[in-house]
Amino acid sequence: MERRDFLRLIGVTFAAPLPVLRSLVDPLRGAPAAIEALTPLHLIGWRTPRLFGPRWSEAKLLREPADALESMTRAARADGVDVWARSGHRTLSQQRYLWNSKYRGLSTVRADDGSRLTLTRDHSAAEKVRLILSYTAFPGTSRHHWGTDVDMAQTFADGCADLLLREGLEPASSGEPGEPDPGGEPAAGQKAERGADDCLPAQRWLAARAHEFGWYLVYDVARGGVQPEPWHWSYLPYAVPALARYLDEVDADLLRDRGVDGDDVVLDDFASYRDRFILGIRPEALPGSAVVAPEEPSTSPVPDS
Ligand SMILES: [Zn+2]
Repeated sequence: MERRDFLRLIGVTFAAPLPVLRSLVDPLRGAPAAIEALTPLHLIGWRTPRLFGPRWSEAKLLREPADALESMTRAARADGVDVWARSGHRTLSQQRYLWNSKYRGLSTVRADDGSRLTLTRDHSAAEKVRLILSYTAFPGTSRHHWGTDVDMAQTFADGCADLLLREGLEPASSGEPGEPDPGGEPAAGQKAERGADDCLPAQRWLAARAHEFGWYLVYDVARGGVQPEPWHWSYLPYAVPALARYLDEVDADLLRDRGVDGDDVVLDDFASYRDRFILGIRPEALPGSAVVAPEEPSTSPVPDS
């Protein structure tokens, strides 16, 4: 997807947000205490920190991101727009359930052209892993483990995610979009085809104002790893220092033997995985020490220039 097309999709530019972002993640400020308190086992979702959020919501987060999410939701409502988080903190075992379900063919994966695909014995382990990774992080490496990131939606029905992707990506060569289908969760209820009228107001509002509350898209364009995820928002004042600690303290050994199908494919070359999928995010979301990534494809690294 071209950056221009994404901006057209969300209807704003990022010219305003970036200065705010830089001041929020001032490296001299040091990591917030709640991030300092996380152990490596918290960072991989094996242990769960104390989480916060409205009682009615399943999306729980560390306290400050939870408060920032609530403020943002209230502000959106005041503007007449419903936004909410359908997924917040996830444990490694929850991520493993998503992963193994796809690996075993119990739920579908989204192919590069947007169509849905069920993995079978005919796929090699490497091929399965490659297909799953486009939209599902390897368990233990998801940003959802940190309690700083959310998947936003306007309704429970996941058709919005498909619509946002379809609107944002270059048309597939067949011209036929994939059937609407939940992206992550195998246990999805009824799904409805959502239209732009249903989905885009929330997305436009978030694109225009989420930064005021510390929230940013991190998978904004394709960088050779995770595909663009216009629904995944990250509370960067916490997520940047969380990522810095993750890079320092988590290695392949810590992620081994946790019951994840095909884990050798990822863990035997974890450095490559890390560079593509963990560091393949908008540059402003990288900790200062990680900004230099010479082998990253340099497609529009600075959104506002
Ligand atoms: Zn997400």
